[in-house]
Amino acid sequence: MYRKEQKRRLMGVNMGRAMMKAGEFLRYAGRGMVDLIWPDVCLACSRADAEEGGLCEPCGRTLLSHVSLPYCPRCGATLGPNILPRLDGCGSCPTALPRFDRVVRLGPYAAPLRTIVRELKYHRRVELCGRMGGLLAQAVTAACDDGPPDVILPVPMHWRRRLARGHDHSRVLARAIARPLKLPIGDELIRVRHTPAQVGLTRAQRQENIRGAFGVVRAETLGGAHVLLVDDVTTTGATADEAAAMLAKAGARRVSLAVIAKSEPPAAYAEYWGR
Ligand SMILES: [Zn+2]
Ligand SMILES: [Zn+2]
Repeated sequence: MYRKEQKRRLMGVNMGRAMMKAGEFLRYAGRGMVDLIWPDVCLACSRADAEEGGLCEPCGRTLLSHVSLPYCPRCGATLGPNILPRLDGCGSCPTALPRFDRVVRLGPYAAPLRTIVRELKYHRRVELCGRMGGLLAQAVTAACDDGPPDVILPVPMHWRRRLARGHDHSRVLARAIARPLKLPIGDELIRVRHTPAQVGLTRAQRQENIRGAFGVVRAETLGGAHVLLVDDVTTTGATADEAAAMLAKAGARRVSLAVIAKSEPPAAYAEYWGR
């Protein structure tokens, strides 16, 4: 049902997207020149040679150890070694649980994931994106034991911000997850209002800031669907919560959130450090 609707729409010519593609090509061509001049170093630490996927061997190992940390499937917070992940939340979850059903994350927002997110956001590293997408696709498959998602929707960026940055990193990441999962990417979720950055705001302020920022177009395609929402980082979950509420209103049956990292105080994962 979802795929059929998508196909019909994709038949139309989308000039805006074609122009974006041309811009992307020029950027890639530029990057290719840079890569010819400087050999590849690890994108996370810049200290050692990069292996496949853009990271050096130690950074790759640290990354995998972070991916294996236990976390809460509702807020994404790292759980202590003796706490079991529960779908009804953890001690760090907000009193009113988020309106998405679960979160899938790769690790805490700390090195090397913090550097990886920044590289994706501001420099669009294709190798890293492929690696993150592959890891997230595996994590999504393992977490969604009640069935895979029907469609992937990136958390949309306001066009003004996308124009300033040159690319929409959530969409690029969504594509990297969609490929191994063989899932379609939709564009039903749209940004209808520009919002100031959420950095430095409390949870309540973030909720207020993001309220009314999203809209859904062609809601009929989402009826009964399990949506996988994709973003780079979650902090309080306010953005995904607001988006999930809009998707539920549009008829989505279930909303899962996939992020690279959960931003949390270092104390949350300190006891695993040095293992
Ligand atoms: Zn490294
Ligand atoms: Zn929690």
